[in-house]
This record gives sequence, C-alpha cells and structure tokens, in this order.
Amino acid sequence: IVETRGLEKAFGLVLACAGIDLTVRRGETVALLGPSGSGKSTLLRHLNGLTRPDKGSVRVLGVDVVAAKGSELRALRRRVGVVFQQFNLVGRLTVMENVLSGALGRVRGPRYGIVTWPKAVRAEAFEQLDRVGLADRAYQRAGSLSGGQQQRVAIARALLQRPELVLADEPVASLDPETAASVMDLLVRVCREDGLTMVCTLHQVDLALTWTRRVVGLRMGAVRLDELTDRLDAVRLRGLYLSDPVTVP
Ligand code: ATP
Ligand code: MG
Repeated sequence: IVETRGLEKAFGLVLACAGIDLTVRRGETVALLGPSGSGKSTLLRHLNGLTRPDKGSVRVLGVDVVAAKGSELRALRRRVGVVFQQFNLVGRLTVMENVLSGALGRVRGPRYGIVTWPKAVRAEAFEQLDRVGLADRAYQRAGSLSGGQQQRVAIARALLQRPELVLADEPVASLDPETAASVMDLLVRVCREDGLTMVCTLHQVDLALTWTRRVVGLRMGAVRLDELTDRLDAVRLRGLYLSDPVTVP
C-alpha cells in the first residue's frame, strides 16, 4: 500500500532521507522512530506528495506519487487522512464543523455551517464523534477543548474522509503521558476496526512498543531497524535510542 525505493531528499547539505526503502502492507500500523532530525517527518510528507524526492520512487495506494500532479494528487490526498501534532482544528468553529470538514473532499458541502450539510453526512460525522467519545461536545467551540480532546476531534475528522491510509506526525507529542496513551489507543483502535493502514512518527519508544505492530527506526535519514513490535527487545530498542546524543525519552 506504501512503497518507497531509494528515496533521497536533501535540504541544502542536510540529507533528510538518504535512500529509504519502506514497504507498508495493508492494515499495518507502523511507527517511525528516531532522534530529532532523523528524517521521520520528511519521509511521512513524501507519502502524500507534500514533498517531492530528489531521487527514488514513492508509490502510495497504487499511485506514483512522484509523477502525480494536480487532480491526481488531490485524489490521492482524499484517500489519505492526516493527523498532526498541533491538531490543526479551526478553533473558532464548532467541533462538529471541524469534523464535517473531513468530508469536503468527497461531498460537495459548504465550507462552513452545519445545517447545509446533507443529513447523511451529518449523521456520519456524529457517529465518528461518538466513536472518539466526544458526541456531547459537538456544538462546543473546538478551541475550548483540551489538547487530548482536540486530537480526538482531528481523528474523527480524518475518519470522516473515509481514508484508506492514515498518516500521523507526532500525534501525541503535545499531550501529557496519560492522555498520549489514550489517544494512541484510540487512533490504533479505530484504524484496526476500519482496516486502515496507519503510519505515525513517534518520539517515545514505549508508545511504539505498546501500540503499533511494527517499528521502523531511522537515523540520519536511513532505516536502521525494521521489525515487528512483538519480536523487538524493548531493552535493546531503548538502548539503541538512548545511546544517541539526542535522546528519545
Ligand atoms: P523531529 O523528531 O524533530 O520531528 P524528524 O525526524 O521529523 O525530527 P525531519 O523534520 O524530517 O526530522 O528533518 C530531517 C532533516 O531535514 C533535519 O535536519 C531538518 O532540519 C531538515 N529539514 C526538514 N525539512 C526541511 C525544510 N523544509 N527545509 C530545510 N531543512 C529541512
Ligand atoms: Mg518530525
């Protein structure tokens, strides 16, 4: 479902991706781990065409992302849900309006306003909101929610897109440990329930070990480790990262 081959990307003298081969199969949940600056976000951004490689190939959901442009790229992005570290909700709009915006790619909806959305879409948005445990907050301003709640809303919004692949860049990095664990639990659970493929970047080894099926460890733009979580030796993994000058907690 995702395949990069020899992916290279440089920013000036910095080689952010130094020849990355990554294959992700349908239904997998994968964590990209690595110290700050190791290329995790850059790799993720290649997967929905936000960044173009200098060299190598990127195929996602059967689309050649490097060759795709314009409408083809937009069509691909509709099939890929994204979740960001900073939630990226529109704070002054209601929770419901934020969730509904996830349907913009597939339904001709109004940019804002709830009543003008088709009833079926509103029902679906409400269902997703219920799924993330925030049905009772539907008509509250999104900006008034806590960080964990906002990320749940962002997940509901991504789900309303009916994506096939979910990309999450540090989805829990802005949250306290307890909230982070519950949001990771939710993200992985809904992806599994819907049979979605999920690739996220994480800073914490423990979150990856607990919640994802597979860990890909990056360092200086290269894949240093690629293993199924249940076969990983947690002590070894922590050692690998803690020994780095830029430590991963
Ligand atoms: P973090 O854990 O801090 O999020 P990361 O693993 O996500 O780090 P990237 O953001 O992918 O790392 O960055 C990899 C390298 O590429 C870094 O050295 C970074 O400074 C550089 N880089 C990334 N994006 C750009 C950009 N748009 N312009 C210039 N340099 C960039
Ligand atoms: Mg990053």
